[in-house]
Amino acid sequence: MTVESPTAPPPPAPAAMSDADWLATECGTVRESIQDPSSFDRDALLWRRACKDIALFRLQTAKHIPASRPKSRPGPLTRVMLNVTYVEHPAAWDVCPACNGQNLDRPDCDGCHGDGYLLAQREPARKK
Ligand SMILES: [Zn+2]
Repeated sequence: MTVESPTAPPPPAPAAMSDADWLATECGTVRESIQDPSSFDRDALLWRRACKDIALFRLQTAKHIPASRPKSRPGPLTRVMLNVTYVEHPAAWDVCPACNGQNLDRPDCDGCHGDGYLLAQREPARKK
């Protein structure tokens, strides 16, 4: 348990943090587990800058994507749109289980193609 000084300023809100502070404090332990997190950092900062646009895109396409999605395997454009629409915060991304985040040692990893991590997506439950 940490005890903060009553005179210490409160920590900055995530939106007010520098990119470096945001990556260090808001991206969980995944980043620390990747041998070379430079790709993770670029993607995480892209997510940071685009998350409001992604949320708007999700709202604007809420009717279209499910309508184009069959019960079986969705087509390529639908898959791309699903991946963008439901990508989660970088703190929820996963260390690649195939290389265990050792992307410098395994640049040809079949699981992550040398990035060391995998995106996480959460799609809402589908209506039957
Ligand atoms: Zn990997």
